[in-house]
Amino acid sequence: MAPSSSEQNGKAYEYVDHAYDVIVVGAGGSGLRATLGMAEQGFKTACITKVFPTRSHTVAAQGGIAASLQNMTPDCWQWHLYDTVKGSDWLGDVDAMQYLAMEAPQAVYELEHYGVPFSRNEEGKIYQRPFGGHMQNYGDGPPVQRTCAAADRTGHAILHTLYGQSLRNNAEFFIEYFALDLIMNDDGVCTGAVAWNLDDGTIHRFSAKMVVLATGGYGRTFFSATSAHTCTGDGAGMIARAGLPLQDMEFVQFHPTGIYGAGCLITEGARGEGGYLTNSEGERFMERYAPSAKDLASRDVVSRCMTMEIREGRGVGPNKDHIFLHLDHLDPAILAERLPGISESARIFAGVDVTREPIPVLPTVHYNMGGIPTNYWGEVLNANAENPERVAPGLMAVGEAGCASVHGANRLGSNSLIDLVVFGRAAAIRAGQVIDRESPIPALNTDACDKIMERFDSIRHANGSQPTSVLRDKMQRAMQEDAAVFRTQETLEQGCKRISDIWSELPDVKVTDRSMIWNSDLVETLELHNLMACAITTVYGAEARKESRGAHAREDYVDGPFSGRDDENWRKHTLSWVSEAGEVKLDYRPVHQDLIAEGIDIKKIAPKARVY
Ligand SMILES: Cc1cc2nc3c(=O)[nH]c(=O)nc-3n(C[C@H](O)[C@H](O)[C@H](O)COP(=O)(O)OP(=O)(O)OC[C@H]3O[C@@H](n4cnc5c(N)ncnc54)[C@H](O)[C@@H]3O)c2cc1C
Repeated sequence: MAPSSSEQNGKAYEYVDHAYDVIVVGAGGSGLRATLGMAEQGFKTACITKVFPTRSHTVAAQGGIAASLQNMTPDCWQWHLYDTVKGSDWLGDVDAMQYLAMEAPQAVYELEHYGVPFSRNEEGKIYQRPFGGHMQNYGDGPPVQRTCAAADRTGHAILHTLYGQSLRNNAEFFIEYFALDLIMNDDGVCTGAVAWNLDDGTIHRFSAKMVVLATGGYGRTFFSATSAHTCTGDGAGMIARAGLPLQDMEFVQFHPTGIYGAGCLITEGARGEGGYLTNSEGERFMERYAPSAKDLASRDVVSRCMTMEIREGRGVGPNKDHIFLHLDHLDPAILAERLPGISESARIFAGVDVTREPIPVLPTVHYNMGGIPTNYWGEVLNANAENPERVAPGLMAVGEAGCASVHGANRLGSNSLIDLVVFGRAAAIRAGQVIDRESPIPALNTDACDKIMERFDSIRHANGSQPTSVLRDKMQRAMQEDAAVFRTQETLEQGCKRISDIWSELPDVKVTDRSMIWNSDLVETLELHNLMACAITTVYGAEARKESRGAHAREDYVDGPFSGRDDENWRKHTLSWVSEAGEVKLDYRPVHQDLIAEGIDIKKIAPKARVY
């Protein structure tokens, strides 16, 4: 850990160098589960995080975590697999989805034993609630109670527990360190990462045998999002700059019930507990669109129905531009016990007492199905059409940053928290197999580090004419308008043009603060670069995909037995690269269609029309 220094642009940077078996970038649910799994095996493990671990966005997860425990209703992994495949609109990889559904119960029991304080049913078993798209009997219904919950603070409970367990296993934490870039060798092997200590301004160069990216989603590419301001796709930005592909970026989930105006989330658990949506005529309109699942249809479906109601003039409020969510018919004691957090959010952000009045809601960006392509062991894929399974050595990705792909074109509620722990754990298991414990930790590649610092230094001294906040606002508005719940060729072409124009304006950014200590101006500028890599791959991928599937709903593709879904030409993953100059290259790789274990007839999950 010898401090050293170097000159960049006449300014000295002070370096601290480290060597670890494994570094994990990100301390949300996925990063902590990976960190814990690595440390438990005796790997010298460091976790780097730009926010305090328990402030990661996972802390905000309300509704719960899916696993077929059968504590409340009959259930089995086969039904969970079926629902996940159908939810994904047949874009998810079957091997990864099967792994998820089969491992889920064990992963939840493991959390219970680590200390997560789950709510209980009358028998004292883990309480489970209904959630959108989760049904009994291969979709034939009724809704299944599969979502395990700790009241409406499930993510909070999981995150705190995993942080405690990671410390107990001697993982080391670098808190409030901003990871800048991956250290890549010329042969495409990842050998570490460089991070900036926000608190004292030092630069830390980490060498490692394995780097795990667990940096979360990129909801903040949009104007209105339920995700934290820190969800800026930093991992995706690092991957793009390393010349590696991103996958399925065009699939962005809108959650039906963001609080109108504020954007904060009201969990789907609210509808799971009996809440329902109404339009200006007081009609429970979901009954018309999804006669069997009704308000518990999958998220993309409910978001589209709400948008159609508003477009057809049946929105509520003075501008007829939102929808009501009713909980006022539910027993106040149940609300207080099972949904205390959202009762509070509704009061603070909408001024509504949920026991008496409906909550004004609107579809709001919530989750990124796409991300860094991986296999179901979390290994990052340096894929293209010729080499769809090629692994990028030394690199893993888990959680919302990754794309395994278990959520395909649309994620089911409560399937992300389970993805975090199942694949965080899988990455640790795989690392145990592929890391050579005897070999030395790779030497620091100082050439690669110098290039990273050159880029950092030029952004730090950027002296253009537009503040970061102005460029970010332009990007967020373009994405909100042109890559929305409904899309057309025209809006997407316009979106590509607007985002490309903003890309070319990036060199014109103005950073006013040049300091190295708590320089939030510089942090936000680095984040903007990462967000732009996500935004540009999202709109270009969406423009190219000439079909409607899951969250990618194109009004110009609605015909045929699958309502615009074109399995013959488009049941494939998009791969996208973006160059420094902002040129986007697209390619495709096949969807994995094979099971990894017996127990279900493959015909059960064969593609068909997706109705709820
Ligand atoms: C409001 C809300 C409610 C939700 N509710 C549910 C639910 O009930 N059930 C469910 O299944 N899913 C839910 N989701 C989705 C789910 O919570 C997220 O997908 C998941 O928590 C993401 O976890 P993660 O580990 O991938 O990343 P995050 O929890 O987002 O953590 C990212 C981590 O990366 C670190 N990081 C990022 N960039 C850098 C960098 N450059 N340098 C250093 N560190 C960095 C951050 O510090 C942070 O520690 C919800 C999401 C939201 C927004």
